[in-house]
Amino acid sequence: IKYQKHYLPLTRIELINRLKEALKPARFNHVLRVEQTAIKLAKKYDVDLEAASVAGLCHDYAKQRPDEDFIAVIKAKKLSKELLDYGNAIWHGVVGAELVKDELGVQNEEILDAIREHTTGAAYMTPLAQVLYMADYIEPGRDFPGLEKARQFTETNLGLGVAFQTQATLTYLAENGKPIYPKTLETYNAWVPKYR
Ligand code: GDP
Ligand code: FE
Ligand code: FE
Ligand code: FE
Repeated sequence: IKYQKHYLPLTRIELINRLKEALKPARFNHVLRVEQTAIKLAKKYDVDLEAASVAGLCHDYAKQRPDEDFIAVIKAKKLSKELLDYGNAIWHGVVGAELVKDELGVQNEEILDAIREHTTGAAYMTPLAQVLYMADYIEPGRDFPGLEKARQFTETNLGLGVAFQTQATLTYLAENGKPIYPKTLETYNAWVPKYR
């Protein structure tokens, strides 16, 4: 996909180089697969392809930052104190979007929201946010029980894919006694009963 400089002050190649510096090879390769999967879903569901590319490439930009970086941003930007009760799994999206904005120059709020919501989902997600949420889950490098079902559902209906992922993630978190971020529960209530 060709672009750019619509959604950020970097060309795709410049962005790729920044990501290569920020991420270990396995994570960098995941990001490239999420971009391709997001573009594929965007074509199918009529979402802006350049936005899908930028969101896919940037979604895990902050994943390998130390906890101190996230805590500093939470304090500096006066984000919700409840965030401090969680960790990297929640921070790299919700707080990481602030680093994507400030360090990579992405200003588009729909892209930033898609990045903020890529781990937990949200009660209301734009089609772009749904595409990113699903692309991250079903990209070709993933392997877990239920993946083929997730891919089929996502192919049939984007919302059905969102509901399926949300139910599976919440079940996994609860079965393993992990802390559930309130927004994850909001996502569950908004999406899962509707599609059952
Ligand atoms: P990745 O960054 O590509 O590995 O994928 P994600 O950003 O989607 O997910 C990161 C991790 O966060 C996964 O292991 C999810 O199971 C986990 N996760 C999702 N929702 C929650 C939540 O509400 N609480 C906690 N503790 N973890 C969550
Ligand atoms: Fe992530
Ligand atoms: Fe995900
Ligand atoms: Fe990811």
